[in-house]
Amino acid sequence: MLKIGCHLSSSKGFLAMARTAEKINANTFQFFTRNPRGGKAKALDQEDIRAYLKEAERLGIEKIVAHAPYTLNACGAEGRVREFALETMEDDLKRLEYLPGTYYNFHPGSHVGQGTEEGIRLIADTLNQVLKPDQSTIVLLETMAGKGSEVGGRFEELREILDRVELNRHMGVCLDTCHVWDGGYDIVGHLDQVLEEFDRIIGLDRLKAIHLNDSQNPLGARKDRHARIGEGYIGAEALLQVVNHPALKHLPFELETPNELEGYGEEIRFFREREQESA
Ligand code: FE
Ligand code: FE
Ligand code: ZN
Repeated sequence: MLKIGCHLSSSKGFLAMARTAEKINANTFQFFTRNPRGGKAKALDQEDIRAYLKEAERLGIEKIVAHAPYTLNACGAEGRVREFALETMEDDLKRLEYLPGTYYNFHPGSHVGQGTEEGIRLIADTLNQVLKPDQSTIVLLETMAGKGSEVGGRFEELREILDRVELNRHMGVCLDTCHVWDGGYDIVGHLDQVLEEFDRIIGLDRLKAIHLNDSQNPLGARKDRHARIGEGYIGAEALLQVVNHPALKHLPFELETPNELEGYGEEIRFFREREQESA
């Protein structure tokens, strides 16, 4: 069965997210580990986690994606910016061990003028400090739109980060359909070729999750403005091809479209009704 869900608010805890997922027929979801604007995370409620894990099993929720605050920048120019990224990731990873097997997705960062090479070095340096040999969490680099000085808009850049991380057995990649499209990868006209390129440069075995979004902008725009499914330049047909692609259909798909819960529910229904059974 298709694993599809959406970004949910974590403010009421994990059990509440599972209940919300059930309402919209989602069997996976994504959440921010803390207020994306930064700041301290709430203490984890062990009672809530216990109840959640039971409910997740009942609902067939196998994989969920924790998203680091998008303000985190592991390759910022200022030391205190990188320090915040390091401390946040360290703390998030410690907390996520209570939810074994969760993916931890983050934006590699923006090099803000230092250059892509220096950005890559700083990101890998941060990862080398936060990854632990025995952790159960897989950390995902998100493919970026290449807006401004973002690192990770090219598959080659993600490859370079992975190559520099010692414990990269704990690393994977999350492909955001809006971001790769904005980055110039034509998933509408040439999905197979894009996936071949991904496989050649990064390896499809590294691909662990998909952010399923339409884009408000044309191919290569480097803007990163998500659109609802079918309301952007990628279109519903191309996104159906993504979801049903033999190389991708086993992955968790997370919608990050501008929607309220009802809209997410409709999008999930759209993809579920058109899931192609593999022979
Ligand atoms: Fe993201
Ligand atoms: Fe995303
Ligand atoms: Zn985005």
